[in-house]
Amino acid sequence: MEVILSSPRGFCAGVVRSIDIVDICLRKYGHPVYVKHQIVHNPHVVADLERKGAITVETVDEIPEGSVVVFSAHGSPPEDFEKAKERGLKVIDAVCPLVTRVHNEAKKYHREGKKVLLVGHVGHQEVRGTMGQVEMTLIPDDSDAQLPDWDEDENVAVLTQTTLSITDTARAIDAIKGRFYNAVVRNDVCYATTNRQQAIIHIAGMVELVLVIGAPNSSNCNRLREVAEAQGVTSYLINGPDEINPSWIKGIDKVGITSGASTPEVLVESVIHALAPEKVTMLEGVEEDVEFTLPKELR
Ligand code: SF4
Repeated sequence: MEVILSSPRGFCAGVVRSIDIVDICLRKYGHPVYVKHQIVHNPHVVADLERKGAITVETVDEIPEGSVVVFSAHGSPPEDFEKAKERGLKVIDAVCPLVTRVHNEAKKYHREGKKVLLVGHVGHQEVRGTMGQVEMTLIPDDSDAQLPDWDEDENVAVLTQTTLSITDTARAIDAIKGRFYNAVVRNDVCYATTNRQQAIIHIAGMVELVLVIGAPNSSNCNRLREVAEAQGVTSYLINGPDEINPSWIKGIDKVGITSGASTPEVLVESVIHALAPEKVTMLEGVEEDVEFTLPKELR
């Protein structure tokens, strides 16, 4: 068997930054440091930080008064900051700067009097954070969604979740533009999501199976699996080598492997080890040199 490794894959700049933030907080403030919501959607990363003294909780109400809390990379609604203030918490916001940009766009368009539409995945943490910024309407990315019953000349601004499928997003945007001819469209799917999806589209024609390494609650991992399937290749999303079903690889000569933006490379390596291929080929892909600065409290 030959393994073909997709590139780029794995950690993006926003994930690296958010993990660094928790690490630095643990050293600077001592433990425990609370983390609201999984810092990134990967159980391996979360468990690693918890071993060092981080405590992951789902709501601000669970955090003892006066504690230090890191808000996750996905972004948080203003009400979480207000609750944290009431409880006297020291908040370090690990939101990815690319998500903050979407929040700022939402506020700007709202100030201009536009009606804001957000194309996104129902129930995802990032969508919760973005929807809290100003009044807006969610357009689900996963179906031929119903559009609001507004006049066709309505001043509409369209934002998107950062980790959507590039093709589903383009389809949703086309539908919105077809319905509201004044629509101002911002496609906010981030560089990391775009690059990983384009790389797997490139590989899909070369392999018989694609394994996406990552967590089932990771949006960009799920989209990678769907993008591979849309190219006509069977694809599975697995956390690690324990989840490989031997029947998947029986008689298979070429397996493509990728991983989402929140997946540590060690998990990719352990899957390759478990497959024990005769050959591993790493394809060249887009070089990523994006870096984000730390929040000012930690610089
Ligand atoms: S996937 Fe994109 S938006 Fe999300 S943390 Fe990474 S760079 Fe930021």
